[in-house]
Amino acid sequence: MTDADCIFCKIVAGEIPSTKVLETDRVLAFRDLYPKAPTHVLVIPKDHYANVAELAAADPALAGEVLRATSEVAAAEGVADSGWRLFANTGSDGGQDVFHVHFHVAGGKPLGRMLS
Ligand code: 5GP
Ligand code: ZN
Repeated sequence: MTDADCIFCKIVAGEIPSTKVLETDRVLAFRDLYPKAPTHVLVIPKDHYANVAELAAADPALAGEVLRATSEVAAAEGVADSGWRLFANTGSDGGQDVFHVHFHVAGGKPLGRMLS
């Protein structure tokens, strides 16, 4: 399942370069091109789903694999003990720019409060 106009599908296909930090049969994690923290990694299912709701409804097992990979990335990045943030911007008000579901793994510095 791919979307021809989706930049993350192109990253999965190797048509756009990325710095990969973890890869399984169905999941890919790569560094955010414009990192907002010392650790800023995006974790995605290789199949194209627009957002968390679509992924969770269509393939809950895959959603679980993606979620597990986020923790593995945090451990590999060395932020598991110091703490990190997991978030998925969703839709217009949520600030989603890329409509291939992705979880941000951010850490490596105090991140402060998100909504205040
Ligand atoms: P969103 O705002 O949709 O939650 O996050 C999209 C993220 O993708 C942003 O943090 C942005 O920096 C990142 N991004 C956009 N284009 C690319 C790209 O071509 N490669 C990589 N590695 N990250 C990208
Ligand atoms: Zn896609």
